[in-house]
Amino acid sequence: MEGIMVKAIYPGSFDPVTYGHLDIIERTSKVVDELIIGVLVNNNKKPLFTMEERIRLLGDTTREYPNVRIQSFEGLTVDFARKNGAKVIIRGLRAVTDFESEMQIAQTNHSIEPEIETMFFTTSLQYSFLSSTIVKEVAFYGSDVSKLVPPVVEDALKKKYGH
Ligand code: ADP
Repeated sequence: MEGIMVKAIYPGSFDPVTYGHLDIIERTSKVVDELIIGVLVNNNKKPLFTMEERIRLLGDTTREYPNVRIQSFEGLTVDFARKNGAKVIIRGLRAVTDFESEMQIAQTNHSIEPEIETMFFTTSLQYSFLSSTIVKEVAFYGSDVSKLVPPVVEDALKKKYGH
C-alpha cells in the first residue's frame, strides 16, 4: 500500500524487557513503518524498575531498530495511540491463558476507539513461557537468566537484587 504509513504502539509494563518482548518488537518493526513502545505508568502495580530504568533498558536493547522509539504513558492505551497518530496496537500472545484477558482488552479498546485496531503476534515457541514476573523470580534467587533477558537487563537485575 504505497503512500500509507503504518504507525503502531506496543504498550506494556516492560518491568523489565525480556527476549519475549524483543522478539515481538523485532518482528513488528519489520512490518510497520514506525513502532512506539509505550511504557505504562501503572499506579496499581509497584514496579521493580523505575520508569527511567525501564526506558533505558528498552533503549539499550532496541538501538538496532531505526523505526522504533520509546515513550512513557499514563491512562488509556487508546488515548496514547490517538495522541501519537497510531492506528494499530500490538500485543503478544503467549498461550491460551493470555487469550481471554487480551480479548477483553481488545474488545474494550475497539468499542472506545473503533478506528484503532489491535494486532496480535503469537510468541515464538521458545519464549512462550517467558514473562517479566518469571524473570524477576528467577533473578531474585540468584539463578541464571541469561537465556531470558539480554546482558544489560541481567546486570540490572543483579544490581537490584544485590547478587
Ligand atoms: P502488561 O503489564 O501489559 O502485561 P508486559 O510488559 O508484561 O505488560 O507485556 C506487554 C506485552 O508483551 C503483552 O502483550 C504481553 O502479552 C507481551 N509479552 C510479554 N511477554 C511475552 C513473551 N514472552 N512473548 C511474547 N509476548 C510477550
